[in-house]
Amino acid sequence: MALTSMLKKGKAITKNPDIIIPHGSPSSLGNFLSCRRKAYWHLVRRLTMKKGRLSLEVGTMWHSGLDTWYAKKKIMPARRAIYKEMDKIIATGYSSLDSPWNIAFTRSMLNGMLFGYIDRYGKKDLKTWKWLATEKQFEILNFMGSGISFTGRIDGVIEILRGSNKGIWIVEHKTTKDLSYFSVESIKNSLQTLGYIKAAKEIYGIEPKGIIWNAVRKPSKRLKKNQTNKEYCDEIREDYEARPDFYFYREQLIIPKKSIRAWESEIAMVFLDLAFCFENPDDLDIWYKNTSVCDMYGGCEFCALCNRGEKRSSLALYRKIEHE
Ligand code: SF4
Repeated sequence: MALTSMLKKGKAITKNPDIIIPHGSPSSLGNFLSCRRKAYWHLVRRLTMKKGRLSLEVGTMWHSGLDTWYAKKKIMPARRAIYKEMDKIIATGYSSLDSPWNIAFTRSMLNGMLFGYIDRYGKKDLKTWKWLATEKQFEILNFMGSGISFTGRIDGVIEILRGSNKGIWIVEHKTTKDLSYFSVESIKNSLQTLGYIKAAKEIYGIEPKGIIWNAVRKPSKRLKKNQTNKEYCDEIREDYEARPDFYFYREQLIIPKKSIRAWESEIAMVFLDLAFCFENPDDLDIWYKNTSVCDMYGGCEFCALCNRGEKRSSLALYRKIEHE
């Protein structure tokens, strides 16, 4: 079967919010491993911060821009895709983009990132990459016999047509404020890397050679007094071009089959632990806290609930997750 046809099959995640099948994605498994209570707030109580996080919103817009760039191979449609995604996010009413200034700043920032990215990678990629699939959601039911679905979304599947890296690869886009979060060792062992390669095989029957970790640092420069948005955008773009090593990080790693097999036996145990917790959804002792990670990555979003309990004032900061 042709690769593109293989990628068209596969089961989509249920969109019905009333049907909550116990599930674990790489990020929710990461939550579970770092703090079970965090996974409880997310997976059992289905809570999220009422107000969106700018870092996540920027990531969503960035993905739309890159997806469109690789699909249309032109910058204008990619910019329009970013703006369209921004409008969608603002229309939810929960966005962090809640002032004209925030909106203008974020638009300028994403424009600078896009111009810089295309200069650094985008044009070169088009010569050797064949983009096979974008944003592939997957769900593996009853993963490893745990009764829990393994879910996720693969940012991209590409084929490299020539050279020593010829073959199928998974692409993972990242936006970050600090590229030092990523290293060869951390990417090789990432739940996303191993889980997505496993999912590609299980759902689509394809065997990627490995992962292309495609990270971009968000700019730390701020709009100066008396500087126009256009001047700011130009400054960001020039900075991306002048300091590519500062802003971009791409790692292309072959992942051997034996690494996936080793991961499977370990992750099976994590899924069994998670299944046990799901069987006891109201027992908070089982979904115990790990308070040593509360302040990691800028602070856990559930601090108010953990510290103050489920009072009206703390619950007012959250809303129900309708779909993921
Ligand atoms: S605030 Fe701390 S204990 Fe509570 S969920 Fe977050 S990381 Fe866990």
